[in-house]
Amino acid sequence: MKILVTGGAGFIGSNFCEYCFSNEPSSIVEKIIVIDKLGYSGSIENIKELQKRDNFVFIQADICDQELISNILFEEKINAIIHFAAESHVDRSIDNPEIFVQSNVLGTFKLLESSFHYVTSLSRKERDKFRFVHISTDEVYGSIPLEAPPVKEGGVYDPSSPYSASKAASDHFVLAYHKTYGFPAMVTHSSNNYGPRQHPEKMIPHMICNALEEKELPVYGKGLNIRDWIYVDDHCAGIWKVLNRGRLGEVYHIAKGRGVTNLELVQKICSQLDELFPRSSGRKYAELIRFVTDRPGHDLRYAIDVAKMKNELGWEAQVELEEGLQKTILWYVQHKDWIRSVLDRGYLLKRQGLYRSV
Ligand code: NAD
Repeated sequence: MKILVTGGAGFIGSNFCEYCFSNEPSSIVEKIIVIDKLGYSGSIENIKELQKRDNFVFIQADICDQELISNILFEEKINAIIHFAAESHVDRSIDNPEIFVQSNVLGTFKLLESSFHYVTSLSRKERDKFRFVHISTDEVYGSIPLEAPPVKEGGVYDPSSPYSASKAASDHFVLAYHKTYGFPAMVTHSSNNYGPRQHPEKMIPHMICNALEEKELPVYGKGLNIRDWIYVDDHCAGIWKVLNRGRLGEVYHIAKGRGVTNLELVQKICSQLDELFPRSSGRKYAELIRFVTDRPGHDLRYAIDVAKMKNELGWEAQVELEEGLQKTILWYVQHKDWIRSVLDRGYLLKRQGLYRSV
């Protein structure tokens, strides 16, 4: 299988490439081609090790460049596309939504067009084997009431942020291409990921990095928002299952299946840091927690039902939150150069109620 990974120089995409090479034989994963425009969150550092391999190719490209993407598909004779490329940070989408429409909506549309023309050129046998997996988020369902059960696949979309609205639009395009043209696509919705190489602007690395520098730990509102954190390797294993055994036109939920409040999460990070890297002052890291003005439109709870992945594809998340957090903390402590290089490339986030509003 020759796999095209869009956004493969980002957090989940680079972990997915590593997952494929470490867990699947080369007879199955013949070659991986990553295309990434190397926006602020994509980094060549993320694929440095992968570039040492003969069967890995990186091409700097924007998914909106239909001609270039088409040429890559035809020249490389791609068998599967895993589509990660997207603007991914909710706070940035509140400040500057247009780029989210550009990459997430228009970019997905252009990628679908390139892929559709390519697939129609394939022989029947090749076409039957081709797969397009679109990676989406639980955020498209909006806030789930505390008393409601987790949303099942096919649940009603109710996105709150420009980010989740743009992902929702892209999901609809992918599924419409399946329904209208028989395009061989599937959609996955994952909950919040964490693990190595996640941009330090995202919640878990932000907390780890701030704590280790003795900076304040900003928690939105009262810290009561609930998220279901999944370790990135678990997510990658789920995507691999969907790629190989998922049914065309179907949607699959990939999550741990257990929610924690933001405050509980930050407290867990703090107590792990207390054990692993006690502060020289002898004080607890939790003393650095500060409640800050809430994000506008901040969804209280995300919760997706994962029974379909278990029952249909035999997949379940394996990594417990405490174990995953420890691995993540150790990775960030051991990769200070990586953090510096990523931050040097621009980190201009406004975090304290400075969003635009009417
Ligand atoms: P990321 O920001 O780390 O990586 C995204 C990558 O896409 C970056 O390398 C960026 O340069 C690239 N990119 C963006 N626009 C592009 C374009 N127009 N052309 C080519 N490359 C482009 O994000 P991530 O956390 O790795 O997320 C990957 C995907 O998974 C996204 O689609 C996101 O919506 C989805 N997702 C993420 C999470 C999460 O918790 N991180 C959860 C659910 C779903």
